Order: sequence, then structure tokens, then C-alpha cells
Amino acid sequence: MFKPFAIVRSCAQLRQLKIVAACAVIVFGAAGCSDKSSSESTSSSAIETSASMSVADGGIYKSPNDDRAYATFTLPNGLEVIVVSDKDAEMAAVSLSVGVGSYQDPDQHLGLAHYLEHMLFLGTEKYPEPNSLQKFVDMNAGMWNAYTAPELTNYFFQIKADKLAEALDYFSDYFVSPKFDPTFADKERNAVNSEWSMGRTNDGWILQRVTGLTANPKNPAARLTVGNLETLKDSETSKLQDALRDFYRTYYSANIMKLVMVSNLPLSELTELSKTYFSAIPNRNVERPSVAEPGITGNEQGQHIYIKSLKDLKLLQVTFPIADNSSEWKVKPNFYIENILSSEEPGTLGEILRKEGLAQSVSVYSDPSRYGNDGFMSVYITLTDKGVTQKDHIIASVFSYIELLKKDGVNNTYFEEFKSILNKNFTDLPKSPALDLATSLSATLFDVPAANVLNADFVYEKFDQAAINRVLAQMTPERARIFHVGINETATDPVPYYEGAYRVKKFTAEELNQWREMGKSMKFLLPPKNDLLAEGNAPIVATEYAKPTQILSEKGIEAFLAQPSFYREDKGVIRIDLNSDIAQRSIEQAAAARIYVDILRQQEMSLMDKAARAGINIGLEQNETGTLSIRLGGYTQKHTTLLTQLLASIKQQGITEAEFIKARESYVQGLKNFSQNPPYSQAFMHVSRLLSQHSRWTPQQLAVAAEKLTVESIVKYQEELLSDHLLRVYVFGNYTNAVIKPALLAARDQLGSARLPEERRLRLLASPKAQERILYSDDILPTDNAIVKGFVGTEASIANVAVTRLINAIFSTDIFTQLRTQEQLGYVVGSRATDVNDRPMLLMFAQSNNTALIPLAARLDKFSTDFIETVAALSDEDFTQLQKAELAVLNEKPANFYAESDLYMADFEMGIYSFDRRARLTQALASTKKTDLAALYNELVNVERSARIEIQLRGSNFAKESFAP
Ligand SMILES: [Zn+2]
Repeated sequence: MFKPFAIVRSCAQLRQLKIVAACAVIVFGAAGCSDKSSSESTSSSAIETSASMSVADGGIYKSPNDDRAYATFTLPNGLEVIVVSDKDAEMAAVSLSVGVGSYQDPDQHLGLAHYLEHMLFLGTEKYPEPNSLQKFVDMNAGMWNAYTAPELTNYFFQIKADKLAEALDYFSDYFVSPKFDPTFADKERNAVNSEWSMGRTNDGWILQRVTGLTANPKNPAARLTVGNLETLKDSETSKLQDALRDFYRTYYSANIMKLVMVSNLPLSELTELSKTYFSAIPNRNVERPSVAEPGITGNEQGQHIYIKSLKDLKLLQVTFPIADNSSEWKVKPNFYIENILSSEEPGTLGEILRKEGLAQSVSVYSDPSRYGNDGFMSVYITLTDKGVTQKDHIIASVFSYIELLKKDGVNNTYFEEFKSILNKNFTDLPKSPALDLATSLSATLFDVPAANVLNADFVYEKFDQAAINRVLAQMTPERARIFHVGINETATDPVPYYEGAYRVKKFTAEELNQWREMGKSMKFLLPPKNDLLAEGNAPIVATEYAKPTQILSEKGIEAFLAQPSFYREDKGVIRIDLNSDIAQRSIEQAAAARIYVDILRQQEMSLMDKAARAGINIGLEQNETGTLSIRLGGYTQKHTTLLTQLLASIKQQGITEAEFIKARESYVQGLKNFSQNPPYSQAFMHVSRLLSQHSRWTPQQLAVAAEKLTVESIVKYQEELLSDHLLRVYVFGNYTNAVIKPALLAARDQLGSARLPEERRLRLLASPKAQERILYSDDILPTDNAIVKGFVGTEASIANVAVTRLINAIFSTDIFTQLRTQEQLGYVVGSRATDVNDRPMLLMFAQSNNTALIPLAARLDKFSTDFIETVAALSDEDFTQLQKAELAVLNEKPANFYAESDLYMADFEMGIYSFDRRARLTQALASTKKTDLAALYNELVNVERSARIEIQLRGSNFAKESFAP
């Protein structure tokens, strides 16, 4: 199935603080750049519990909801290991972390830790071929990657469970006898350089760089971390390859490594495997390096830092340096403060600033060890245009609200509330997918004892007023560092190695005085007790329907219900679509739809935030068909009440001029910023757009249309949508038909839904004919070129979709190894199999900072032609292995309730009410024969018999070069 891309990227990328760089970019599921920041983003949904609630298993505290078995031990060479046995796991996952990162780069070779992370993959004594593990993993439905953080380097992969031992033979050898082959050593510098080049024009990376650059110059955060051709070369005093080997020999020692393995084998066998494969890693008895110099001294406090962004961002970040208090994880002072600062309840900082029309959103994030032995607590405010002109008022508001927290907000009542949330969340903790579990545990093991790797985030031992006050005492105006990020900021100092500029200015005494005076008249409220917290859980209902079953089909509504087969917990998902085609009628209506949903989100923010803290997620989305999609997920007790409340609010809300202006501003800003997105992601958005039948507009066209809208046009859109739609409903989880059916009928009556089920509007995709070419080319702002070339088969059949998946498993590894590792055409290279209305589609893509579009296109063409032979030469053995692996992935037991609730969601979206697409695909995969691969591939590359899609985006560094014909 072809899934659309989100056009607008959120500001979350501005918080890429921990990860320096990952090894490859994930594009559509190809090997990729893991952005770890998302998993540790803001506070409001953070959840934790008391150790007393959990069950000790193999010396590790786990959730009572966790049926995995754990064991922890240390090998004679000092390697600390956790093995996890999960009887249901079709896939095994392994992660090995080394306690060294870019903060340990030598001054002569910045980026060395990251370069080593790349070089490790390129051959060992036993397996001298580069990417041997990767090839093996890809042939077995796996995935692999690595990332370098300031003080950590993490290597990980996932593979079909029965191939684990073989994969370990490849993987463990990296840490025993890497070759650092000189033929690849020089080439791979280019991969690192391309990666740097890609981030050079990314505001998230620029902001991160400036955060380091403006810190204490003696702290390693001040230096470049990713590395490029300039820093990764021989210097007068040090040869790069010698430094690489030295770094490896110094730090790659078993006693500062952590290994985590997850599989379906019993613990005893996993333990044996770890001994067999990892005992040979040498123990050099090295002490894990640490940072000596503080990140922020008195010199760096009390500063404005202005950053000229490339995108039209309007961001204010009020940051307070704090001492590293990570060791206080049992009492969580930062968590306590984040929770109160980020509340959206009436009268709180976020709610007031939004209501005043000054902020789009307010969030809070802390990283107490950002600089090694100190860090920060930050309040992030996304500003409106109005907010940009009233920054002093906003800054004073932040300080004033913090004062209120200091005065009245440190008490046992909040502690008890947060503790009960953490307890509940740990008790009901959804299982994380094996690879996520392995990578996160191997990193967490450096921070907390093995016994607490699973519950550290949930333990809330006691109300520690002193610990909270210690942090609050550091949150004063005098110590603050205020980042002003925007395209119109005046900034004079260049950011070395990056685009953009910055400027630092000390606070004046007048400013401090002014903020204090302004704050005096401000009135804020601390959040009240959360009344959405459920006492205990709802009883678990019996399974009436194992597959989605139609429970309603009448005027105004059609609804499907299923209960889980695997995860019978008190969780549920209700998705209610106000299905309509209004947004498809014109570009103006399409823009109005997006603005309307943004207004709704702002209006419902307090409720959504409160619900999220109580374990209920409310989502409001607008999809391209013009459907407004409302989702409730989580604990079910309050769902029906909440739904009534939410729909009543949506039905009654008017729209003010101020709300309209604010929402349009945010929408248009996102559209305009699209042109700064990474080239490959822009290219894929165009693929998605051009294959749609009803949202083919470019972001630029939508921005122009949005500018013409008025508040009246949005009100008209709202009236039309609310009065003329069909409710399409998908319900999955702990609900009975007897309870949910009347609730849904009430919802229909509440909204007055009147369209008939047969009037439903589903997403329509283009159906290009054989020989048809869908082309798009354009100039873009980033420096690199991007290209996507795809083949669309003409015959729609699930069998063809299955065969394309198998073809892609080989294609993607080959193209990566050939075009990236061997030829270094760019950092992002890969392929993807998907379909357009069950017609097979194979897409190949590349983003390049060193090759013009004509040779790049020619190279892809040649690769796709040469691949005819590769696919023809596939051995029977390899084919069988591939087929088994793909089948295993497709039929793997979902990792947790939410994954299970998603199993039939795509069918619902496409209107496949037999809910059997996955079953048919499985069947088709199972009956695929080896010869089908070559037959379909030959058809796809035959210009007479398939359609083509081709996107060419010309980077600014190639403005003088031509587009490919
Ligand atoms: Zn990398």
C-alpha cells in the first residue's frame, strides 16, 4: 500500500540533542538514520512507576504486563549482558553499546568516533567483504543500523529468529577483528562527509551546533561532532588511519560495552550464545571516559543567543543550566518540574500564552547531562507573528510562572498524582518491539543498575522536596540562556561547518528589571487535580469478534468492532472519521480543511493534554480526502464520556478571527518551509502527491490558496463538514458491542450525520497506463540533488505486490552496497517496494552532494538494467530463505496492543471490508515461485510494459548543471 507523507515537519527535530549521527538514513523503511531524540522528547507523556509494583525477573524488575523473561550477567571479559527470552518473537534483536562517543574525538580528527562507527561495518578478518552482516540481515527480513552519541556508540540489528547465531558470527567479529580496510577507509570518509553535508542546512543541527558552540569553549560540546572530509584527514602530527586504530584499541574494550539480545530462545541458550560469540572481545580494562569541563560556567549564563535560521522558524527557548542530577532518577526532580511547567490546563503558562495569541505551543524538555557533567532544563515556545513582537512579555511570563511553581507548586499532592500515573503506566506497560528494547536497554545500562533498566523511568520512590528545590534554585532569570531562532534574527557570527549565523548578547540590568516588573502583574494558575485519571481498570470484555465486524450500517454511520486476540488489556482505540469530499472540491477547500483542523487542535488542547496525562490519547487529523479523523486511544473507562464531551465541544465551537489568523500563519509557514526539507524527503512527498487523484497540489500552490482564505471561508467549511458527512468508525479493544453501539449512535445524533454508507469517499490513487511517464523536476533550496525513479506495473494483483516485496529485499541491499559503499554517490541511497491500487511499484532513490542529475539518473538506469542479471542469478536457496523471512515478518505477532489495533486499520482506510488483505498477501507470498521474480522484474523495467515515475530535484550546488532528459 502506498502511504502519503506528512508535508510539514514538526519542530521536534529541533531537539536532536543526543545523537550525533547515525549510519544510514531510513527512507520508507530502508536502512536509516535513527533519530533517538524522539524517544526521549518531552515531559508531558513521560510515565514511570514504583519498584514495589514490579516483579523481579532474573534480577530485573519488570512490568506485570511483561511476559518476557530476563537474565543479566557479566562475562569474564567484563562485558555486561542482558538476555531476553520472548517465546512469541519471530525476530531476534541485538544491540551492543560502547561507552565512548564524539566527546572523546581527538582535536586533530573531529568526527573520529562517528567515522569509526562507519568503518566497523566495512569488513573483518573473518568476513573481509564490506557490509557482510548487512547483506545477511537483509536476506533474512532484518534491519541494521548504528548511531554515535556524545558519550556512546550503539550498534544494532534485527533478524529472523532462527538466523540469530549465524548473524552473531558476523556481528561479534566487528568487536574482535575489524579490518579497517584501506580501500574503503578513504571512500567511507565521503559517506561521513555526505552525512555532514546533509545536516549542514538543517536548522535542527544548526541549533544543536550553536548550543555547543556557545557553551564553555573547553567543553567538548563546543566542537564539531559529525566530521567531514576536512576534519577526517591526515594532519601534520597524526595520520587519520593511525588515529582510527588507536581510538579503537583504546576504547573498544569489553569492560565498557553493554550487550542486549532478545530472541525466542530460552535464557540458557541465549546465555551460551553470548559466551560463544562475545567472550573473545578483548578487555583492555579501560575506564569509561568522562568529560571534565563543565558545559556552562558563569561566563555563559545570562545570555541572549540569536540564531538566524534557514527555515521560517519562530522559536524562543528559555534554557536554565542545571547540574547533572541523573543519579537522582529514583526521585525525579526534573520530571516533577517538567510536568507542571508543560501543563495546558486553564491558567497555566502554555494555555495563557496560546490564548493571548503569542504561542502556537509550549513544551518543556530537560537533559541534565547534555554537556557531560551538566545540562539544562528548557522551555520551548513556538511563537506566532504576534509573539515575535512581544518576546519580553513571554520571557517575563516564563519567569513568573516558575516563581509561582517555586512558591506554591512543590507539594506532596502533585507527587502522589504523578506517582499513581507512573504506577499505572508501568503496570500496563505495552511491550516494546524487540529492536527498540535492545537498543534502549544497551544504552540505559550505562545510567542505571541492570536491575532497574526496565523500571527506572517509572520508579518514583518518594517526594523529595529538597531535590526539586535544588533544580528550581538554578532556574533564575540571571542564569538563563535565551535562544531566539528565526529567519529575521540579526546574527553576525558564522556557525563553523554549518549554514546560518548566530550572535551572543549579555542580558542588561534593565532587561532583568523589566522582566521582573512585568511579571508582578501576571496571574497564572497551577494545574488542578486531573479528573480524567481512572481508578483501576475497566473489566476485560469477552471476545465477540476476532476480526473487525460491521456493527452499524445505516443513515449517517457505518461502524466496525473487533476485540484483540493477543492483548486482552484495558486498552482501546476508537477512530471516528467525519467522511466527506468537501476538501477535494478545490484547492481553497483543501487548505481550509487543514486550517480548520489546526484551529480545532488549539481549541481542544487543554482537554487533549489532560487526557494524555491520564493515559488517553486524543488525536485530531485531517486527511487528504477531506475527512476529519478523531481518535481516542488508551484506558477505556472514560472513552465514551470523553467522546461525548469532545464532540459537543467540536459542534459548538465558533471560530474567531484571531484563531484563524494564528492557524493560517502556522499552516503557511509549514508549507513555505517545505522547500528547506531534506531533498530526499521532498522528492518522496512529490511521489505521493503525483500518485494521488485528489491532492496533487504543491505546497507552494497550497500556500497561495491559503493566503486568500478568510475566517468566513473556514466557518463555511466547518458548517458544511459538520452538517454533511458520513461517520465511518473503527473500534478495536476492550469494548462490548452492547456498550459501544449506543455510544456511536448517540455520536451520530449529536453531530447530525446524515450521509449514507454508500456515499463514502475513499482515497483514490492515480492509475498510470503502460508507457505513461509521471515526471516532476524542480530547483530546491538545499545544496544536494535528489532523484527518485520508479516503475509501476500495469497488472493489479496481490501476487504482484508480493513478488515486488521479494525483489526489493535483494535490490535494496545491492543498490546500497554498490552506489553508496563502493561508489559513494551519496549518503541516502536505497529502494522501496510498494503498490498503487495493488499494482506493483518499485522505487529507487538517491540524494547526492557530489553527482549531477544527468550522471545520477544514468547510474540508476544502469543499475536497474544490470539488476536483470542479478535477479535471474538468484539461487534456489536464497530465494527460499527470502520467502521464509518475508512470511515471518508479515505474520509476526504484533509487539503490543497498539500494534495489534493497527493490523486492520489499512483495510478500513481502503474500504476493504473483508479485512483480509494481509491474509491474501501471505497466501500470495507463500505461493510465489523463484521464476516469478525475474518475470515481474523484466516487465517492470520494460519501457513498453510499465509506467514510470521520476522526480528530479536540483540542489543549489548544481544550479549550473542540467536536469536529466
Ligand atoms: Zn553516520
